[in-house]
Amino acid sequence: MGIVIPEEYGGVGADYVSYALAVEQIAKVDAGASVTLSVHAMICSAILRLGTDAQKKKYLPMLATGDAIAAFALTEPEAGSDAAALRAIARREGDKFVLNGRKQWCSNGGESAVIMGMFRTGGKGVRGISAFLIDHPSKGMVIENLTNKLGIHTSNTCDIAFDDVHVQADALLGAEGEGLRSALSTLTSGRIGIASQACGILGACLDASVAFAKDREAFGKPIAAFEAISFKIARMAADLNAAQLATYRAAALCDAGKPFAVEASMAKLFASTKAREHASEAVQIHGGYGFMSDFPVERYYRDAKITEIYEGTSEIQQMIIARALLGRID
Ligand SMILES: Cc1cc2nc3c(=O)[nH]c(=O)nc-3n(C[C@H](O)[C@H](O)[C@H](O)COP(=O)(O)OP(=O)(O)OC[C@H]3O[C@@H](n4cnc5c(N)ncnc54)[C@H](O)[C@@H]3O)c2cc1C
Repeated sequence: MGIVIPEEYGGVGADYVSYALAVEQIAKVDAGASVTLSVHAMICSAILRLGTDAQKKKYLPMLATGDAIAAFALTEPEAGSDAAALRAIARREGDKFVLNGRKQWCSNGGESAVIMGMFRTGGKGVRGISAFLIDHPSKGMVIENLTNKLGIHTSNTCDIAFDDVHVQADALLGAEGEGLRSALSTLTSGRIGIASQACGILGACLDASVAFAKDREAFGKPIAAFEAISFKIARMAADLNAAQLATYRAAALCDAGKPFAVEASMAKLFASTKAREHASEAVQIHGGYGFMSDFPVERYYRDAKITEIYEGTSEIQQMIIARALLGRID
């Protein structure tokens, strides 16, 4: 859990390429566990980038060991892709802020020790939003763990109600009014994690499909002997290779201190699309067995879908890429 945290705070101090490889390998076994790590590391990076010395000393050592888990609370019932529409409010009272509102679908939230939460401190629009580091549990915070998900069942997802939650003013992460910008830049690095998660699921689909196609016989031969099956596997391998290269490239640019937002969006868009498509093909290769939970591909099929939705849907990734190419045309 301390992979992106420098050694001085008790972490490993690895670079983002190493982080991407770690998330991918974990996702290959368990996509839910990989998003737990990915969201946690995203907040560790945000604290490193935006936090005060006191915030770094308070949080990073415990996050590095995994004794404490971090979460990210941006989404609300009526503000998802349009994050600037969020309504949760932080009202200043002397040297404190009082938080009220409802956050939705927060990964890790129920198991977290600290939540990076975005609240409105000013008027409407982008500039009125600030980011806070909120200790959990805190008086007035009510967590509702959700279990009615299609996939990633090993990942905690919760709704959080904030009812007069008091935090000290030094819980602000970054400058007041800069919270949406902080949240969006945090999600940019997070997208490398979700692209890696998609690569892991895709790799798992490939391994399972190769093993099954060599073993399962139909019409007197292994189904791998039929081009209809072997070509599916060949395309799966080619797309996995391309998705990995796109993901590692975005991570390498991040490590080099170069702009990587567009590359991270491209990697997430491509890897998640291919994970979803090939998870379906992996089920197809397994025939009826693929539909049963005795084989893992039905889980890959359910887990793959979320990679196209969270940390910016595929439509939002295409908007980011298109805007970089075309400029903003309203
Ligand atoms: C399991 C799970 C875990 C999550 N974890 C977290 C978390 O830890 N923290 C957090 O803050 N959030 C989290 N989310 C929320 C997730 O990031 C949002 O669901 C996602 O950003 C999309 O927002 P929405 O669901 O409100 O969809 P909407 O924004 O309502 O979008 C609905 C559809 O419209 C499309 N759309 C919207 N705007 C446009 C546009 N301008 N142009 C074209 N198409 C558009 C979308 O792409 C989508 O297809 C999680 C969600 C899930 C399901």
